[in-house]
Amino acid sequence: MNPQTLIGTLLLLGMAAARPAHAEWVNRIADGIMGTRITVELWSEDKGKADQAIDAVLDEFRRLDESMSTYKPTSEVSQVNARAADGPMHISKELFDLLVTAKEYSVLTDGAFDITYASVGYLYDFRKHIRPDEAQISKALPAVNYRHILLDPKEQTVQFSRKGVRIDLGGIAKGYAVDCGINVLKARGFTRAYVGAGGDSRIIGDRFGKPWVVGVRDPRKGEGEVIARIPLVNAAISTSGDYERFFDEGGVRYHHIIDPHTGHSASKVRSATVIGPYATRTDGLSKTAFVLGPEKAMEIYNRIDDIDAIIVKLDGTVVYSKGMQRPKQSAAAQQ
Ligand code: ADP
Ligand code: MG
Repeated sequence: MNPQTLIGTLLLLGMAAARPAHAEWVNRIADGIMGTRITVELWSEDKGKADQAIDAVLDEFRRLDESMSTYKPTSEVSQVNARAADGPMHISKELFDLLVTAKEYSVLTDGAFDITYASVGYLYDFRKHIRPDEAQISKALPAVNYRHILLDPKEQTVQFSRKGVRIDLGGIAKGYAVDCGINVLKARGFTRAYVGAGGDSRIIGDRFGKPWVVGVRDPRKGEGEVIARIPLVNAAISTSGDYERFFDEGGVRYHHIIDPHTGHSASKVRSATVIGPYATRTDGLSKTAFVLGPEKAMEIYNRIDDIDAIIVKLDGTVVYSKGMQRPKQSAAAQQ
């Protein structure tokens, strides 16, 4: 073989190697991390790299579960609950930043979102059908207030201003983990992907000219039944429902979203879906409607520029935020 032909052959081989052998959508469903179902789907030209990337996303969920779960006594959040009432406590930058964000959402939602709900919330066990009585609630309730969380950015410390305060990131951690999962994929060069954890999902890119379509579940029907299919590109979506973790007793539904003002289950809607730029935000904001009711919550949702919302009211009717409503037909168009 003359050198010219050899170089030509090598070039051809090189080109063949550089060209994707096989490009496809790769997906995986994993159960049990963060007590929920995690779904990852991405477009990849290399199945091996796709599988490694999905492993890395799931590792990220495990890492966050280790540091943020209140079920694990060793987690950083459990340590905070055990010690932050005694004095300022140094915490990781990641947890510090998330606590700052959580407090911002408390302000945005007039206190409906409040991670100190856990000061009362820990008295409930929805799996075992256990709930506190009125005396227990009124004793614990004064500790529920996000203002009890004192954050010092210079020292990166957290302190609780009184005894009895507990925090729980269950209302924001899954959304945050979804965002971290998306960041893992972006860092590896993926540009079309979906990461979902229970009711919280985020999407990057489209499906080759078409949007991704995410179904919003009908709160009173099975998992497959949807009230709306939402086309999404580069967006996050979170749904909170009273059907996720609950028990019914004496005609009352006790479920896992707690009204910080009363310490009782917040039952003013059946479900609320928030669409926005990232999942920490949509997760943090999707509980508001349960606490404040559809009118007040929609007022707040409409006030926040970068989000939209769909609320299923107690009577089953569905209301949409302004950004999702069809523009009214103009007078000219009606003629
Ligand atoms: P999921 O856990 O399925 O994502 P949600 O996003 O609706 O469900 O979050 C519900 C969780 O939010 C509860 O299990 C609890 O950990 C937490 N939570 C409950 N009430 C509040 C509240 N008022 N503010 C902040 N977090 C809350
Ligand atoms: Mg959630």
